[in-house]
Amino acid sequence: MAHPLEKYLRAGKLPHIWCAGCGHGIVTQAILRAVDELQLDTEKTVVVSGIGCSSRAPGYLHFDTLHTTHGRAIPFATGIKMANPELRVIVVTGDGDAAAIGGNHLIHAARRNIDLTVICFNNTIYGMTSGQYSPVTPGGSFASTAPYGMVEPSFDLCTLVAGAGGTFVARGTTYHARPLTNIIKEAIKHEGFSFVEALSQCPTYYGRRNKLRAPLDMLYWYRDHAVGVSQWEKLTDDEKAGKFPIGVLKKVEHAPEFSRVYSELIARARERSEA
Ligand code: SF4
Ligand code: MG
Repeated sequence: MAHPLEKYLRAGKLPHIWCAGCGHGIVTQAILRAVDELQLDTEKTVVVSGIGCSSRAPGYLHFDTLHTTHGRAIPFATGIKMANPELRVIVVTGDGDAAAIGGNHLIHAARRNIDLTVICFNNTIYGMTSGQYSPVTPGGSFASTAPYGMVEPSFDLCTLVAGAGGTFVARGTTYHARPLTNIIKEAIKHEGFSFVEALSQCPTYYGRRNKLRAPLDMLYWYRDHAVGVSQWEKLTDDEKAGKFPIGVLKKVEHAPEFSRVYSELIARARERSEA
């Protein structure tokens, strides 16, 4: 019997390239479940990615997809949305792609409140290029470029995007796969810039260097350190230490959306030139 999500896959592109135990398949499935439950029109849904392990996902998806250059998924997605605001545009990116080379694009898309849904598969490492540290690698972690431990402070991606003006910001993990699907559904429905940080294990290049060698070790780490946002708000600062909130962290409804604002500007300019 066919898998209920099989219709969203390009069977000819499988098998995928991800390592056994990688979390990216779980995040990809959460996206497809969200698309399926929302009954999105696949003819009007575009998925755009940059470069990295996560950015291979759109290649397997049976939508209009673009696999672009490193860090530039958001500018491509912006162009698509501005050219045809009727399209629903989902960006699939990683922590290196979105927060390092693409960091500028991320904050400015958030500031503009353009109606894109950015799903960042955050494995806290550059997986595809064998484990260099990224701007979100936790302090003290080991990476191929941090053999004595990461000494730089890391970004909290959700706080970064919320501070830059994103109107929907949420975090989930691959351990919490069903809540992650619900978060992605809410993000897709949101009109404005929506950002989902999906923590996703890379056992190959993060786990094995950081005493989380097995994929299950990383999933249990998410289970033991993530706290639902309603519980999180009741914790003292001491209780929050070493933990992080999951769920919808920021949601602002009815903020001016960039493609709509820009269309109105074009209409005003046309009227003026015709007058
Ligand atoms: Fe997944 Fe890491 Fe392997 Fe890339 S290197 S496919 S992120 S486990
Ligand atoms: Mg990464």
